[in-house]
Amino acid sequence: MTADLSVELFKIVFEKSPGSLLIKGDAPRFTIAAASDSYLEVTSSTREHIVGKGFFEAFPEDKTLSDDTNARSVFTRVVDTGQKVDVPSYRFDVYNRDTGICDIRYWSCSNIPLLSTDGKVDYILNTVIDITEEVRAREIIAENEDRLRLATDAAALATWDLNLLDYSFVSSPRMNEIFGHPPDAPLLNHQELQRQVDPEDLKNIVVAAYHEALVTGKYLYEVRISLPDESLRWIKTQGIVIYNEKNIPVRMLGTVLDITDNKRDEIRKNDFIAMASHELKTPLTSVKAYLQILAKRLASSGDSFVNSTLLKAGNQVNKMTDLIHAFLDLSRLESGKLQLKLADFDINALIEEIIAETRLLSPGRIIYFQPGEKLMVRADHEKIGQVTSNFLSNALKYSDKETIISITAVKEIDSVKVSVEDKGIGIRPKDQEKLFQRFYRVEGDKMKNISGFGIGLYLSREIMQRHKGAIGVESEEGKGATFYFTLPAVH
Ligand code: ADP
Repeated sequence: MTADLSVELFKIVFEKSPGSLLIKGDAPRFTIAAASDSYLEVTSSTREHIVGKGFFEAFPEDKTLSDDTNARSVFTRVVDTGQKVDVPSYRFDVYNRDTGICDIRYWSCSNIPLLSTDGKVDYILNTVIDITEEVRAREIIAENEDRLRLATDAAALATWDLNLLDYSFVSSPRMNEIFGHPPDAPLLNHQELQRQVDPEDLKNIVVAAYHEALVTGKYLYEVRISLPDESLRWIKTQGIVIYNEKNIPVRMLGTVLDITDNKRDEIRKNDFIAMASHELKTPLTSVKAYLQILAKRLASSGDSFVNSTLLKAGNQVNKMTDLIHAFLDLSRLESGKLQLKLADFDINALIEEIIAETRLLSPGRIIYFQPGEKLMVRADHEKIGQVTSNFLSNALKYSDKETIISITAVKEIDSVKVSVEDKGIGIRPKDQEKLFQRFYRVEGDKMKNISGFGIGLYLSREIMQRHKGAIGVESEEGKGATFYFTLPAVH
């Protein structure tokens, strides 16, 4: 190949190479020897305008740039050292011929020395990449992070991020504040935070919430924490789980909020309910006793009106007593004082007892139950009776008088399942998830004349959770509902 031909070939290849400029090592002029097509395009220049000119004649020198990014000092360094110099990111605005204004542009460039046989830098191969989009994307992320930080600061929320693969943990300075440490102190790590959580709450609530989160994808709990000054605080933690493409949980992140003030109000309200319910219990027990004496005295009188009225009054007193017990349970539950008294018993016998009591209150309703062989469970007899009674009274309450209620108790692999089925108004799917929340009642025309407080199912769920049993409902609107609970079986 002749020398001319190889120069010609080099020219063609070079002009097609991405974002390249060949600059002579003739400091301080740095004459531009060649420019590739794409270099001309990204810099909005033409070959006639820049080739043969000194670099700083073609492109105005930006003296505001630091020595690390300033073209003159970068080229000088390449010539002086004979070493390659990279500039990962710098700003150099380009005049846009279409709009007539300067576009803000960011670049990354590399400057490779081309040495002559005597080791002198003959040329510098300058290649540039337009990284404006990347820098913008980074700026947008930073802006979003800033906005998010301002919002969480305004809401007094602490944020946290837990890597489930190596358990590394990051939190915001607000976390330190909530846990009673200076925000500018080193951020508390996961173990240090857990050490401040009430040990009972850590064992019963945090661990359970963590395992539930891995299944449901949502993390939520309220616990007590003790501060370094020994004061007590309540916090609410909320978060989500992030899964990888193989559906393995890899990360959990969320917020922590100090809810001490709300909790104190709630505790005061609970104490009030507990006290009021307790005070109501005594006079009500007396009314019940007086009614029973009256009923005995008048039983022989043969006055059917008086007798049936006394029976109705007695039933109303029983309803009120149940309600008061539910309120007392609610306040015990929320103050952590609901204790289970475990014993082994046959669930069939308990169901028959509850049916017998219910028949007294709702004579005329058909309740079908066919007890099979003994089904032994280890549970709190009274509390499981309460759950069954709640299911049964709801089934009666939310269905027509003519319809049948059926109860079944069956043995499954390791558990016993009790179901109460009615043919009543049923429940929409969107309400089904919420029924077990405190004070939740379905809204609708059919509910207008049915009284209730929405605590029966909430209490039932709490009772079943403490028994490590399940609770749930299957229903179709307008066709009825089947409420069930399960208990671990005793073999
Ligand atoms: P209450 O019946 O006192 O309102 P519960 O906690 O026992 O409270 O029930 C919560 C809500 O669930 C009820 O208000 C009702 O809307 C719905 N519900 C419960 N049982 C049934 C049922 N068997 N059929 C239809 N809806 C029901």
